[in-house]
Amino acid sequence: MYCKVNQTECIACGICQLAAPNLFDYTNEGIAYFVPDNNSGRHPLNPQELIKMKIAYHKCPTGAIKRSVTPFPNS
Ligand code: SF4
Repeated sequence: MYCKVNQTECIACGICQLAAPNLFDYTNEGIAYFVPDNNSGRHPLNPQELIKMKIAYHKCPTGAIKRSVTPFPNS
């Protein structure tokens, strides 16, 4: 599982970091990013974090958190 925040869809609500504090943090503008790979979406999620990631994924009000079984393309 790979994970990434589409930052254009993020409204800086803060929910994901509460749900998964090891996985999400915020830029100075409050926009979320995926911490383990600096939001590149190219390094697999630690399986121990999978449940927390899924909680954050489902709680995100805008669908900004993306997940994939393959690495995200370089942006
Ligand atoms: S839950 Fe979604 S909208 Fe809220 S800060 Fe996280 S990524 Fe952004």
